[in-house]
Amino acid sequence: MSALERHFGYHHFRPGQAEAVNAVLAGRDTLVVMPTGAGKSLIYQLPALALPGLTLVVSPLVALMKDQVDHLVALGKPATYINSSLPAEEQIARVERVSQGEYKLVYVAPERLRNRVFLQALLEGKVSRAAVDEAHCISQWGHDFRPDYLSLGQVIAHLGHPPVAALTATATLRVQDDIIQRLGLRDPLRLVTGFNRPNLYLEVRPAPDDASKLRDISTLLDSDPGPAIIYTGTRKDAETVSQFLAGLGIASAFYHAGLDPDTRRRVQDDFMQDKARVIVATNAFGMGVDKPDIRLVVHHSLPSSLEAYYQEAGRAGRDDLPAHCVLLYAPKDRSLQEWFIENDAPNQYELRNLLGTLRRFARDNQVRISDAELARSTRLPDVKLRVGLSQLAQLGAIVHLGDDLGTMRFEVQPNALDFDLAPAAAEVAERRAHKREKLAQMVAYAEATTCRRRFILDYFGDPGAPEAARCCDVCQAQAQTPMTAYAAFKAGVPAEEGATLVTRPASTTAEWTLLIILEAVKSLAHGIGRVKLAQMLAGSRAATLGQLTKHRLYGKLSFVGLAPLQTTIDQLVTAGYLKLVGVETPQVILTPRGASALRARAAISLPAFEPDGRGLPLDQKH
Ligand code: ADP
Ligand code: MG
Repeated sequence: MSALERHFGYHHFRPGQAEAVNAVLAGRDTLVVMPTGAGKSLIYQLPALALPGLTLVVSPLVALMKDQVDHLVALGKPATYINSSLPAEEQIARVERVSQGEYKLVYVAPERLRNRVFLQALLEGKVSRAAVDEAHCISQWGHDFRPDYLSLGQVIAHLGHPPVAALTATATLRVQDDIIQRLGLRDPLRLVTGFNRPNLYLEVRPAPDDASKLRDISTLLDSDPGPAIIYTGTRKDAETVSQFLAGLGIASAFYHAGLDPDTRRRVQDDFMQDKARVIVATNAFGMGVDKPDIRLVVHHSLPSSLEAYYQEAGRAGRDDLPAHCVLLYAPKDRSLQEWFIENDAPNQYELRNLLGTLRRFARDNQVRISDAELARSTRLPDVKLRVGLSQLAQLGAIVHLGDDLGTMRFEVQPNALDFDLAPAAAEVAERRAHKREKLAQMVAYAEATTCRRRFILDYFGDPGAPEAARCCDVCQAQAQTPMTAYAAFKAGVPAEEGATLVTRPASTTAEWTLLIILEAVKSLAHGIGRVKLAQMLAGSRAATLGQLTKHRLYGKLSFVGLAPLQTTIDQLVTAGYLKLVGVETPQVILTPRGASALRARAAISLPAFEPDGRGLPLDQKH
């Protein structure tokens, strides 16, 4: 059995995984740029479990690390996270276990790495690999810059430079270079792959005003059944759109950073458990949300960049079944984004005020202060505060000392108030120019008259082909021109069927057969042995079937034949739609992927396709 199967129960690597895993195992620094849902975690988790010593994982969000660690622990792996959501004694206990080498993986947020006790524990615990997740956060050119990430290069050096895997879903070439330089990666393997998501249908709809946006949203929700996310540009819009949907009787909820953590958790749980079908959210929602069956992602207004857009839209269809991504585009939306760009950093006056506040709180040039208190005293919003502190540190006016449980500690230069703050302003100006450029690319996507998929692949530097069952509104419009109808005619397809060719609900007998198998498994909630399942569907007279001969699907697939049915069931297991649980008498059950396929009545295609009659195609059998 392979390590992949033994540790995770997966049968195959996804594209790009094997190459990256091998690089990490071999001790080579690695930069992986693969889209959300591609399976980047495995790239450091598998080596972590296979190698001696500890893998340090840096991850920006508490929710994100908790999900991953829960998953690993459920698989029986020695993994943990340490963050401020835990009681202090628990943090201390976990740090202690790190130093004693009791874990294979430890997840932390970057600010934890300023904690001296923790760093000491890492040195004692023997870090064999470091992984930096969401590595684009280190680059001020990335869309989610976190100044806390800037110290990672030093920390890695301090740990004796264990091989590093940096992973992100969103990095243009410039951001990739920035990550490599700031983390100090040495001759890294750069792997940029997998940006094409063939199951996503990409669409941009002109929607000049709010009323037409709401109309579009309601029609889209009617025609794309299933869970959906609607991203809005502001918190207020999230609430308004959610109320509109509630008025239509659609189970929806809103989510944004202005809600308290408990409410956010509850809203997210409701969505995960299908209690809310639609979530209307700002970009605060999504990191670490691993819901496979999202069928529709609508952007109510223009995102700040194509990375941000594709990351959010890419949350649709992680189960690889058809899903729909729609950008509602009003040219005037651009101005909201421009406003964000002009307000992403403190101005010189605000920066001076921040410095003055720190100076005032200083005793013997040292400040101890909580985030909340500093925000209150300076009246600066979170973004400006974080950026401002990082600017002051870069200018040398303050030095960030280690933090202790929720309190930041700084040393403030005695002559801090004499510092020239102009260089910080110059840097802000440069960054803003860059953001405007990205916004321009986003607008170019929205207004493109060429294939949207090709546009995205080019943007990310992915050399792959823009293949898809249903590509985008531009390609679709072209496919409906007489020219393509002619091409279809030449290919022997009746003209009126040309349009249905590009959709992917189940239509052939073979496709329906697969759905019937899934349906049968679903109806047998306690599972069923694979042989019995085939016998029941084939209408076998075997005495062991008992009550199953009365099942509504008994004999339903008799035209397929017993042996091909068994093969097909096995293929559904291999492809992840079904799985076998239990050791002595394994039972077939439905996976989330299988459940989604069934709900969407989707056309499933099985890769292990055997034309010699032992498996599919079933069409030829009747
Ligand atoms: P990313 O970090 O790239 O967004 P994740 O690492 O969170 O993606 O993985 C997304 C999902 O894919 C997870 O549910 C994970 O368990 C699953 N997954 C990863 N690798 C494989 C594989 N080789 N086979 C099947 N499922 C996989
Ligand atoms: Mg990830």
